[in-house]
Amino acid sequence: MNSPSREIVEWLRREYPVGCRIVLDVMDDPYTKIPVGSQATVTGVDDAGNIMCAWDIGSSLFIAYGADRCHKVTTEEEVKVTLDWYGKHQPEKDARCPRCGEIMPGPTSRHAISRRANIMICDMDGMREALEDARIMKSLPPMDWCAIQLPQNGGGKWRG
Ligand SMILES: [Zn+2]
Repeated sequence: MNSPSREIVEWLRREYPVGCRIVLDVMDDPYTKIPVGSQATVTGVDDAGNIMCAWDIGSSLFIAYGADRCHKVTTEEEVKVTLDWYGKHQPEKDARCPRCGEIMPGPTSRHAISRRANIMICDMDGMREALEDARIMKSLPPMDWCAIQLPQNGGGKWRG
């Protein structure tokens, strides 16, 4: 496989920043144990254009440049998988709200449970979701949540 140019590597680094969440489309390795559709957190792009990542299932196989394919989380279902994953790794205290990005002071368990995914959100956003479900407020798609839009703040786990 030809090495990518410096421009392509830089484009890949902008497109797949550290912390961004990806979904596997194709892995050109008959021995891989990673099923198509698995999600991972990007940990970097090396000089050969390979996307380094930490798979939720516990592997660190990279996405080989020119051989494997992936895409960033896009669909509602993919975003929910990511938010559920973040929810499993929320810090016990002073966590960042995945909707608005604000710090939730004190124990995370005392804040609000999201109606969109298994994750804690700030009390204000808990109220917003209730108002969205009552159709009083326009709903904020999970794709637009801070945790998805600013993955670099997650550092692999949404901790802020
Ligand atoms: Zn919030």
